[in-house]
Amino acid sequence: MSSALQILQTVFGYSAFRGQQQAIVDQVADGGDALVLMPTGGGKSLCYQIPALLRQGTGIVVSPLIALMQDQVDALREAGVAAAYLNSSLGAEDQREVERRLLAGELNLLYVAPERLLTGRFLSLLERTEVALFAIDEAHCVSQWGHDFRPEYRELAILHQRFSAVPRVALTATADQRTRDEIVERLALQQARQFVSSFDRPNIRYRVGLRDNARRQLTEFLDGHRGEAGIVYCLSRRKVDETAAALVEAGVTALPYHAGLDTATRAANQQRFLREDGVVMVATVAFGMGIDKPDVRFVAHLDLPRSMEGYYQETGRAGRDSLPAEAWMIYGLSDVVTMSQMIAQSESADERKRIERQKLESLLAYAEATRCRREVLLSAFGEDYHGPCGHCDNCLEPPKTWDATVPAQKALSAVYRSNQRFGSGHVIEILRGIESSRMSQLGHDRLTTFGVGADMDEKQWRSVFRQLLAVGLLEADAEGFGTLRLTRSSRDVLTGGQSVHLREDARPARTSKRRRDS
Ligand code: ADP
Ligand code: ZN
Repeated sequence: MSSALQILQTVFGYSAFRGQQQAIVDQVADGGDALVLMPTGGGKSLCYQIPALLRQGTGIVVSPLIALMQDQVDALREAGVAAAYLNSSLGAEDQREVERRLLAGELNLLYVAPERLLTGRFLSLLERTEVALFAIDEAHCVSQWGHDFRPEYRELAILHQRFSAVPRVALTATADQRTRDEIVERLALQQARQFVSSFDRPNIRYRVGLRDNARRQLTEFLDGHRGEAGIVYCLSRRKVDETAAALVEAGVTALPYHAGLDTATRAANQQRFLREDGVVMVATVAFGMGIDKPDVRFVAHLDLPRSMEGYYQETGRAGRDSLPAEAWMIYGLSDVVTMSQMIAQSESADERKRIERQKLESLLAYAEATRCRREVLLSAFGEDYHGPCGHCDNCLEPPKTWDATVPAQKALSAVYRSNQRFGSGHVIEILRGIESSRMSQLGHDRLTTFGVGADMDEKQWRSVFRQLLAVGLLEADAEGFGTLRLTRSSRDVLTGGQSVHLREDARPARTSKRRRDS
């Protein structure tokens, strides 16, 4: 019988295991359960492929990604492994052939979509099969707090009940503690050994800037990445289409990808991105899960992503070949308002809204951070990273902060005096003392805060409001259109008990520096 290392070398052609692969392979090959948290590109596949080859019987791999199954199976067959998949893309004839091979014990690995696995027919097939192990890929899909939630994943606990002697390995690149706990509970993995790899991606440089002219900022960013493959994420389909068109006009090989395009176009664009050199994919989050393209040189975000996990997963698609890559993001006040409104207006239960708000806050804290980005990013995943990294934007050019306690007090009291019923646009006009008929109709020109902030221009005030939202000193109300409200912490600032330090970009013009990202 060959050892794990021999299989790694002879079948997969690699000389050595990476990180914790060997320990995971040993655990599962010995019949134990495992929960594997490893960043995208870390090498999760071998953690179940090799044990499946070491053990008697067929390894059953549950994966939500039909598109990826075929690629994986092709690659395995290429390496001489008897692999197959079962999903809705196969014709009846082919399905029967796969089932026959499964029952005949001819398969080393079988990939199957969760909804297929859970059918009575398939489960009874499995009962007549020698199963080497169950691998549950993308295990975070059990979490209803994440954006990849798949209800069928919750039913996978049945594997533990019906096949209690078969080892199970659950794998994911989403590592926050809440998701981890949920996987353990939902999949009944209390006995599983947990393997948590470092999520640091040292070859990725992180940069975050303020959006003032997205088109121009993106063009300048792409100038530094001519001829390289990359992904540009946008929040809406419309913005994807517009951005892709603008890039094409500017001579960039850019393609759009979002759920509103027909299946054929999406597949064709994805193929071009994978096969051709230097294609820029402009996409919504619909694009990327399971995309294995090693030489993606950059991932750009033109809007705030939905959460830190989302951001990490999306940026993690850059630089899987370990060569230098860049994660670049621009965002603005409107993102913060839109996101808080989306949360407030959603139909979710309060508990879920609270969690989503926390997720937004931790993302904003990252975006507004003045210390090493990598430290902030990794600490969000519970990792104790000893930075600073020395090559993120904040390390290379430490952002200057200033004592903005007085402007913050002015801003908060203007929100309060106008009865917490207006958005930032109007409140900024109050602060700057902009006269208008509406202003006098509302009587806001008689407020004590009217004109107290005339020393700062609109842009600076917007920055102050963005940062106050980001640090939780203001929140956007659900009912109005971005109506601002005070929070519990606002009082400490208003009473002078707490000072506020903000990034330089909001500082009054005389002393402000030119921003590097614009
Ligand atoms: P994940 O599923 O964690 O995103 P994969 O299993 O797709 O990662 O592996 C990412 C890449 O790393 C693949 O191209 C894979 O072949 C390669 N890889 C994995 N393990 C090793 C290893 N021990 N040595 C060299 N390359 C490896
Ligand atoms: Zn750093």
